[in-house]
Amino acid sequence: MEADIQTESGTGVMAPIKEKTAHPKGLWVLFGTEMWERFNFYGMRAILTLFLVNSLLMKEEDSSLIYGGFLSLCYLTPMLGGFISDRFFGNRNCILLGGSMMAIGQLLLFFSASVFGTNIGLATTLLWVALGIIIFGNGFFKPNISSMVGSLYPKQEKSKLDSAFTIFYMGINLGAFLGQFICPIIGDVKDSDGTRDIHAFKWGFLAASIAMVLGTVVFYFLKNKYVVTPEGKPLGDLPSKNDASHYEEGEAQKAVFSTKALVLSVVSFIALFFVFRFLLDGHNFIKTIIYPIIYASGITLAGLIISDTSLTKVERQRIIVIYIVSFFVIFFWAAFEQAGSSLTFIADNQTDRNFFGWNMPPSMVQIFNGLFVVAFAIPFSMLWDKLRAKNMEPISPMKQAFGLALIAISYFIIAYNVKDLGNNGLLAIKWLILLYLIQTAGELCLSPIGLSLVGKLSPKRFASLLYGVFFLSNAAGYALAGTLGSILPATGDKFTKAQKLGIDLQAVLDKKITPTADQLALLDKNQISATNPVFVGFELHNLFEFFMVFVVLCGVASVILLLLTPFLKKMMHGVK
Ligand code: GLN
Repeated sequence: MEADIQTESGTGVMAPIKEKTAHPKGLWVLFGTEMWERFNFYGMRAILTLFLVNSLLMKEEDSSLIYGGFLSLCYLTPMLGGFISDRFFGNRNCILLGGSMMAIGQLLLFFSASVFGTNIGLATTLLWVALGIIIFGNGFFKPNISSMVGSLYPKQEKSKLDSAFTIFYMGINLGAFLGQFICPIIGDVKDSDGTRDIHAFKWGFLAASIAMVLGTVVFYFLKNKYVVTPEGKPLGDLPSKNDASHYEEGEAQKAVFSTKALVLSVVSFIALFFVFRFLLDGHNFIKTIIYPIIYASGITLAGLIISDTSLTKVERQRIIVIYIVSFFVIFFWAAFEQAGSSLTFIADNQTDRNFFGWNMPPSMVQIFNGLFVVAFAIPFSMLWDKLRAKNMEPISPMKQAFGLALIAISYFIIAYNVKDLGNNGLLAIKWLILLYLIQTAGELCLSPIGLSLVGKLSPKRFASLLYGVFFLSNAAGYALAGTLGSILPATGDKFTKAQKLGIDLQAVLDKKITPTADQLALLDKNQISATNPVFVGFELHNLFEFFMVFVVLCGVASVILLLLTPFLKKMMHGVK
């Protein structure tokens, strides 16, 4: 199929662009929309935990838990967004609704960061409301935009999906890059003696809100012209107007669940909720309510879909592959999402951030992820193309195992670089940059491939819902990221602060001295923990041990997934 299908605009000359390489223009509209949306999301994510700690005076461990809870809920609600879109509103309306909600949420964060100095109670209430609105907004937006990328391509062009998702993924990260540049520059401001302007965060949130408005407006005006089928019919319209010819022949378009299956799901959700609540013992409501909801809903939804009686054997096996892969990527995201919490705290408190003579804001250090994705997404996809041409391309689950291995390696390297820092040595920024470089390589093996794999393995009628499941595994990863971020041992600033208060924090942590009640209260008031964190029974004494947690978790997950790939290959029935 090598028809000429595009006209070179402005010249009137037919440019022979092979159909094999051309992407529909709608992809670029989705690219732009997602770019602004990710600007809003990642820009805010860069400064959120620092705002919680510095302005709202929370402890780092609590803000890591909130951060994990918030992110995971952002990826729980796509299940709802996918469902509502499939049944009622359609992709387009959900994208517009989600975008508007996120813009409002960011505006409320702006207000929260404007009033905390005079009314911290109001600021905290505004924070919760804002995060709640963003959570639902993201739920409407994210699964629908991803599933529209898949729907742009008719069935005979599904082979273009990998490269389409690579392009889309660059949009995501270009947005992340811009957001993580602008929001820290105006929101994470320190003066020359290192004192932070705790009132500046609001500008970062305002910029995030403006970006989201831009994304929504771009989509609103361009969707009718470009986000269409090859025949020019609108994509992602109300479900009642769906164009059946775009679907696989003979394939039912709507998932139908029996009442029995739905009741069983509710019962199993409640049972699982209590099991996880019991396992995640603690006093913090994020840990005992939010995280159990995330884990329980992931398993419940997965069970509901797989028990659907309309599934054929091949469809069912392919869905199981989605589930297995989803389980393993949990560990990846748990390690990866330290970026906005523990790694940002380390960048803030124990890092020499001198970058070619410029003292980079701590929240900006995570920008290297987006930057490296933009730089390496195309080389990576070319690498896969080359390997495919030689018939040597690894199947998707194997690429994901590589992703896990790479993230384990990234933490191994940094673990050894913090080993001898002691309580007041500073980590050179280059090690964090190297960490993000390797993690990005891991991400490129795992994340766009995963999105595309769900697109290829899902029966059309379950596509949005299965994207919901896939995002739920991300959600579970983020919940785990919150737990893991909250076990960050004391960084250099805590020892210095304690010293100024006349307390030898190291001796307290080593239990060589027992602090008085007054000293304990003083430490608490200064957001310093008087004990070392504990993870599954192990006490973590320093940053080296902290990073090794990620090495072990991701390393083991990588090896197991690698061993499973031959079985997964069979179950994929020809999909690569
Ligand atoms: N960075 C990507 C995004 O924002 C991937 C995140 C994810 O899938 N968890 O879409």
